[in-house]
Amino acid sequence: MKKPDNCPACGALWRGEEIPREHLHLYGGSLHYSRVIAVYDMILDRRTHYECPDCQAKFTLEFEPLDDA
Ligand SMILES: [Zn+2]
Repeated sequence: MKKPDNCPACGALWRGEEIPREHLHLYGGSLHYSRVIAVYDMILDRRTHYECPDCQAKFTLEFEPLDDA
């Protein structure tokens, strides 16, 4: 699945810093970190959804915008 660079809700660019060359293999071919927020539920002990850092729109885990998801 292609991971989006922009928020589908507000269009904000999610692409963050470039990933150092020595860490690229950990990120499945992505060249940049993602600014999108993974929201973690301490009680459920798992990620519940993702959130846009700019407009706070929420996305399901199936959306998989994170490089390290
Ligand atoms: Zn957004």
